[in-house]
Amino acid sequence: MNRRFFLTSGLTLGAVAVLSTQSLAAAASNLTGATNGGRAAKTSFRKVIKTNAQWKRILTPEQYDVTREKGTEAPYSSPLNEIHDSGTFQCVSCALPLFSSKAKFESGTGWPSFYQPLAKQYVHETVDKSIAGEPRTEILCARCDAHLGHVFKDGPPPTGLRYCMNGVAMKFVKA
Ligand SMILES: [Zn+2]
Repeated sequence: MNRRFFLTSGLTLGAVAVLSTQSLAAAASNLTGATNGGRAAKTSFRKVIKTNAQWKRILTPEQYDVTREKGTEAPYSSPLNEIHDSGTFQCVSCALPLFSSKAKFESGTGWPSFYQPLAKQYVHETVDKSIAGEPRTEILCARCDAHLGHVFKDGPPPTGLRYCMNGVAMKFVKA
């Protein structure tokens, strides 16, 4: 009986130890993500890599222009602005889930806006210096490197962030 008890507690302790390790890893990954844009964060998916010619075959010209040429759609042009249903906004190129409808808010900019991604490791951040003297933080899909938009620090609580996305770079999947 004692031995059985010992084994059971041992197992429980083991499970707790595994859980703690996972939490620590998650915390470390969040920390890394915050300091260098998530590039070092561990991803649980394989990268999707295609040539420009292959992307051109899959995407519409508008989707290609935004996701591969880092274009910007005209404000108020995306039907995704009007979506208020529950669901997930996925990468139009590789279907990685990027944003929950729960994090969507009306920013008044004309672009679909979110205060946080579904997971920090699903989006990559990089410095965009295309406008002289006005460096911006570019947001890319972590799986296929599609350009999605930019993130600004003038968003609502709880994060204070505004992920300003191109609707053409995403597709909405209703929950
Ligand atoms: Zn993608």
